[in-house]
Amino acid sequence: MRKDQTTHIRPHVDSEAYAPARPSITDQFGRTFNYLRIAVNEKCNLRCIYCMPEEGVQFNPKNEILTTEEILRVVKVVSDLGVNKIRFTGGEPLLRGDITKLVGKSTTTPGIESVHLTTNGVLLDRYAGDLKESGLAGVNISIDTLNIEKYIQITRRDELVRAMEGLEAAKTAGIPSIKVNAVALRGFNDSEIVEFVELTKDYPLTVRFIELMPFDAHQIWKTGKFFSAEHIQKELKDHFPNIKITTGTATEHFIFQVPNYAGKVAVIPSYSRNLCGNCNRIRLTADGNIRNCLYAHNEFNLKELMRSGGTEEELKELMLSAMWKKPIDGWAAQKTGSDSRESMTQIGG
Ligand code: SAM
Ligand code: SF4
Repeated sequence: MRKDQTTHIRPHVDSEAYAPARPSITDQFGRTFNYLRIAVNEKCNLRCIYCMPEEGVQFNPKNEILTTEEILRVVKVVSDLGVNKIRFTGGEPLLRGDITKLVGKSTTTPGIESVHLTTNGVLLDRYAGDLKESGLAGVNISIDTLNIEKYIQITRRDELVRAMEGLEAAKTAGIPSIKVNAVALRGFNDSEIVEFVELTKDYPLTVRFIELMPFDAHQIWKTGKFFSAEHIQKELKDHFPNIKITTGTATEHFIFQVPNYAGKVAVIPSYSRNLCGNCNRIRLTADGNIRNCLYAHNEFNLKELMRSGGTEEELKELMLSAMWKKPIDGWAAQKTGSDSRESMTQIGG
């Protein structure tokens, strides 16, 4: 060693203990965000009456929708900020030809522990095996009724048989977590609660009844179809007096299991918004905007930053500052202005 050369004598330490902690995305109310939901397109093969009008909405041109590379870049950026769960949604995510690639590449991104998908299930029969191979941890399939005529009424398409085949394909493929989402609508599917719960009898899937939210241009939710989480819970208890409370995820406020049934039943108070204190979600719209709350009106344009040469550090800064500004709850968020979005299909649910 030369005389002028300094030696840096360090105590022997466990390198793990000195590794810089993975930063995390937090807000001023002490919440930490580890879950990113990405709408990967706006288009859909159904027209659910609470989501999209028959004629569709003002869809963005294709070049305004995030590309495969942009989506994967965002996944990498957020994984560096402590996000460990990704969900692809839409619009209908299975209409995107690169969905298997998106799932596969996200699954192998360091830090990402699970990748999930929300779909209407119509094309799932075709994709379930490949998605399982790509590492998909869970699929939520939206089916609001088990009756063919009613399904046509609610989705304006005759696709219940294919959606149910999609559910069966997910089971056959062995996708680890399967959930069936039904938007609860008074006078429409409240008479089907028993049939839905029976789906949990022999297979360990979760049926989730979701409150209707005011997110559609035609405001069908003002027509008296709203069915509150409290009422759904009461109906469940009336039909299944032995139903037992069990554990679920952060947003599954009421979660039950019928004794000896393999699966679970949950009620999601998405309108009542009494779970905002537990929120761990970041949303990215199909056209590349960060939405820090489902009910928030202001968005943060991540796509523009990416397309104008934004560095990884700049992308991280935008993500951190967008989430830092998250309102305390969905009620406060709703007061932040009027929404530029006509439909949930652009936000991803
Ligand atoms: N097309 C896919 C699907 O239907 O599952 C993914 C996108 S969709 C927007 C995601 C979820 O949002 C679905 O479970 C759908 O039922 C729900 N959703 C859409 N509009 C809603 C509304 N106004 N109120 C409650 N849930 C809604
Ligand atoms: Fe399509 Fe899903 Fe909206 Fe129904 S809820 S129209 S399936 S995006």
